Amino acid sequence: MTAGKNGDGLQHGTSIVRENLMTRPGYTPYCGALNCTHWWPRTQWAGGQFACRCGWRSSFDADFVAAYVVRWAAVEAREQRGMVDRTFGLPIALQKSRD
Ligand SMILES: [Zn+2]
Repeated sequence: MTAGKNGDGLQHGTSIVRENLMTRPGYTPYCGALNCTHWWPRTQWAGGQFACRCGWRSSFDADFVAAYVVRWAAVEAREQRGMVDRTFGLPIALQKSRD
């Protein structure tokens, strides 16, 4: 009954939450259920949305989800590359050729 424009603004619809999601590593919004059986913990990323153990799921639009995934995938890739360089000191192409 509350789905739609009026039901989307509780927590995750605010621009502050979206900004945090895009700038703070590991940030997740709190559960947005009206009656959360787990006392509104932070949610976990699951299947393209944020989910609470009570069964609540966020409803970010596809455009935002796509931007979010791309944004942190890029950071992850950079970190992995940094780790490889520290550990082996070899370009990825050379490591592959040793197999
Ligand atoms: Zn919940």
